[in-house]
Amino acid sequence: MTTDTAAQAAYVVAALLFILSLAGLSQHKTSRSGVVWGIAGMVVALAATVGLASRSITTTGLVLIAAATALGAGIGLWRARVVEMTGMPELIAIMHSLVGLAAAFVGWNGYLDVDAELSGSLLAIHHAEVFIGVFIGAVTFTGSVVAYLKLSARINSRPLTLPGKHVLNIGALVAFVGLTAAFVARPGMGLLIAVTVIALALGAHLVASIGGGDMPVVVSMLNSYSGWAAAASGFLLANNLLIVTGALVGSSGAYLSYIMCKAMNRSFISVIAGGFGTPAAAAEEGEQGEHREINAEETAELLGNATSVIITPGYGMAVAQAQYPVAELARKLRERGVEVRFGIHPVAGRLPGHMNVLLAEANVPYDIVLEMDEINDDFAATSVVLVIGANDTVNPAATDNPSSPIAGMPVLHVWESAHVIVFKRSMAAGYAGVQNPLFFRENTQMLFGDAKQRVEDILRGLDALDAPVPEMAGTSR
Ligand code: NDP
Repeated sequence: MTTDTAAQAAYVVAALLFILSLAGLSQHKTSRSGVVWGIAGMVVALAATVGLASRSITTTGLVLIAAATALGAGIGLWRARVVEMTGMPELIAIMHSLVGLAAAFVGWNGYLDVDAELSGSLLAIHHAEVFIGVFIGAVTFTGSVVAYLKLSARINSRPLTLPGKHVLNIGALVAFVGLTAAFVARPGMGLLIAVTVIALALGAHLVASIGGGDMPVVVSMLNSYSGWAAAASGFLLANNLLIVTGALVGSSGAYLSYIMCKAMNRSFISVIAGGFGTPAAAAEEGEQGEHREINAEETAELLGNATSVIITPGYGMAVAQAQYPVAELARKLRERGVEVRFGIHPVAGRLPGHMNVLLAEANVPYDIVLEMDEINDDFAATSVVLVIGANDTVNPAATDNPSSPIAGMPVLHVWESAHVIVFKRSMAAGYAGVQNPLFFRENTQMLFGDAKQRVEDILRGLDALDAPVPEMAGTSR
């Protein structure tokens, strides 16, 4: 078998491993094996690629490949080890920016180093690939950098509303189509520089125009773009595996974006076009009435007397790392005969599936963790809801106030239950920057402080409820 045949066979194996990986990652129970399939696929792909390259490469070239692999693997391992779960979305965003940058470089290389054997329509196709690859890569690069800056709160997450922003976006797309035709007819460096600059500006503008609440869609959309950018590089490098892998990432990212849009009742086209058609965000600042407070002991007593409890976790549970005491609280209450379930909003936290991962990590049984649609009708018959570090995902303004920036986004109807206890540290707004009328409702009480500490206080309060009452204290309880 020649090296080429062996490498192509290895590529097929790697592609199958990537498909197995995606299948595994689609369910909690199989997600760990999904990661292992993905790692195995990447090892096979890298080995085959280096094997192919080694046929026509100098020793210096091999040393450079080894050094780049060691450096990349070192940085990847280090980042993966030190990243906090809450920092994962911005890490993913910055990784996508690297895929975009690589695709733009591959495109430029394709222009500077044209295969001398290409002619006629094949050469025209090559030039189109160069142009499209550079465009998608550059859009992905700056779009991901802006997403990283927004997710890490280095810049404001509010949507940028330049005058005529839709005209700017459409103008950039029209210019891209026109320049592509001109480049295929008569390739020149000036045209390639022009499309690179336009694509860099378009990527930054598209993501800057999207408001905080729509960021989940942006993250999955950039994931999709990075896949298409990789596929474009695959065509340029005549690498089948890169084409297949890019298409897998591109299509699964597009599907995830579609699911996220459905979950948030947003138009897919509107979000990918940079918030096209969304109402201008009417920020609601300031408090909207009096709020009531409760302490951990009183909460423990309320829970001790409850028949059914629903816990709706959000980003604050991740920040506080409160999933372990929360799991312990659920276990203790169930031992006391209380029905306990978790209600998970599709965009709670900062990653798709963020809350499910945290609860699985703390060994909460899967069968009491329900999706929003499965649990939303049950709040009215629930004694107590514990909102642990969630805010936007339980905001009634989304259903009651058509001028709210999050209007139309489906939310957990926690306010329908008899008692709502909200765990947070202050009256500050959530990620979308919108004040939450839930905090001022009659049946809502605020439990201020770090969510982990407050849940631990409640656990102690529950233990105290069970402790034998000292004789001299009377028998009134
Ligand atoms: P939010 O981000 O709306 O609110 C989280 C709340 O947690 C804050 O109000 C904060 O209040 C509180 N909090 C923070 N730290 C702590 C702590 N240590 N202890 C107790 N409370 C704490 O959360 P949700 O999960 O409800 O909503 C997610 C938001 O993120 C949505 O707007 C969604 O669109 C967006 N998003 C989601 C992504 C995804 O894929 N899931 C990706 C990107 C964005 P305080 O500061 O007062 O404590």
